[in-house]
Amino acid sequence: MKFIDPHIHMTSRTTDDYAAMQQAGIVAIIEPAFWLGQPRTELGSFKDYYSSLIGWERFRASQFGIKHYCTIGLNSKEANNEALAEEVMDLLPLFICKEGVVGVGEIGYDDQTAAEDKYYRLQLDLAREANLPVQIHTPHRDKKAGTIRSMDVALEHRLDPGMVIVDHNNEETVRDVLDRGFWAAFTIYPNTKMGNERMVEIVKQYGSERIIVNSAADWGISDPLAVPKTAALMLERGISIDDIHKVCYQNALDSFGQSGQMKESDWLDNTTVDQSEKLFNNSILRGGQTPTIGELKTNPLFESNIIR
Ligand SMILES: [Zn+2]
Repeated sequence: MKFIDPHIHMTSRTTDDYAAMQQAGIVAIIEPAFWLGQPRTELGSFKDYYSSLIGWERFRASQFGIKHYCTIGLNSKEANNEALAEEVMDLLPLFICKEGVVGVGEIGYDDQTAAEDKYYRLQLDLAREANLPVQIHTPHRDKKAGTIRSMDVALEHRLDPGMVIVDHNNEETVRDVLDRGFWAAFTIYPNTKMGNERMVEIVKQYGSERIIVNSAADWGISDPLAVPKTAALMLERGISIDDIHKVCYQNALDSFGQSGQMKESDWLDNTTVDQSEKLFNNSILRGGQTPTIGELKTNPLFESNIIR
């Protein structure tokens, strides 16, 4: 079984994570632009970060047989630094049209301030004009009201709900998001909030139409194998292979594929790695290490091992 994780912050993760993800069957990932745990103070920090998402990080993923895509945007937390946010807005049009950029994201509300609202709206217009999908981060506090507001504002700005992926849903928000025709993405947080047990129940109740599973793994306590682990649990709990395939692979491809930047052939036609390659004259190898060259195998024992 193949998987796509459409929300994972790999710049914060290790090469061990990449190797484990490949072994578990993850073939493609989407890395949304977000904040770094502490606020940036200069425009150049945004520029270099966006450049790394379409440059070094994509190369690093390729060295482990994983196709890397990203969404580019100004996150809600840093929208509150208005002087810097203004400068970032001028930068975004230069990056959203780059190869491998599958949407504007992750954008939306955190504390639901006036500044967050302003830059969320400006970026919705940017996405609509560029005909790109939008990846919405919904607030962790006041989740339900914040999610409804995010959708109301997207509709007000004439976004097609079919172009909008609403992320970090839970049992309280899923019905509204699906009823309005948006994509409903769920982040599996280890031990808290949305665990994979709860995800199984959601798919049992709501089916697989427009539902997407992701890990949102980042610099915090998180699990880069959340998508394949949830798939394994779904299989164990009697959810059909077809439904698992949709929520852990196909729906991510169908939604973000609307960008024209992400096709199944990107990974199906390209199954070998060459770790002797370099980018910016830089390699993932350290002195004396032997590059892997050729086809990488997935671990056939994964499904039976991972759920124990
Ligand atoms: Zn995120």
